[in-house]
Amino acid sequence: QSVNLSDLLEIIVEQVEPLADTREITLIADLAPELWMKGDPDHLTSLFLNLLDNAVKYTKEGGVVRLWSNIETAKIQVCVSNTGAGISPEHLPYLFERFYRVESARSQGGAGLGLAIAQEMVRLHNGTIEASSESGTTNFTVKLPLSRSDI
Ligand code: ATP
Ligand code: MG
Repeated sequence: QSVNLSDLLEIIVEQVEPLADTREITLIADLAPELWMKGDPDHLTSLFLNLLDNAVKYTKEGGVVRLWSNIETAKIQVCVSNTGAGISPEHLPYLFERFYRVESARSQGGAGLGLAIAQEMVRLHNGTIEASSESGTTNFTVKLPLSRSDI
């Protein structure tokens, strides 16, 4: 199935906006138009909803969450970043494991499944997902195969 990822991301932004507002978080979306790919819209929604839910949940009040997308060498690249305490390097390799939660996040509630699900959705679409965290900014980068809109 052909999916316009730009439209799908737009809808997800609208879904997390109320939570961002209550937490006084600035949500900045900078989305390239017409990002077409082959995939399952429900799975892709679950992927990006989990990433944005985390970004909004683990940002301190008054923080900033950014979502942006662009095309890079036949791939769609989507980044979700947030300010906050960041994730220390020793945790990064384990984030995508089921039930893994960083100590400081436990007060927020949650099962520790979101990123495991996200990674599975990426795998089903032949993509990649990477986490990085530097000087208090956490970033998740997803790359997915692009397909032309007319095929
Ligand atoms: P669930 O998503 O099942 O409700 P969860 O958010 O704890 O629970 P994951 O989404 O898998 O589980 O995330 C795993 C852990 O990674 C989180 O508990 C948190 O410690 C850390 N984490 C994930 N995203 C971020 C982020 N954007 N900033 C800081 N820490 C994060
Ligand atoms: Mg989560």
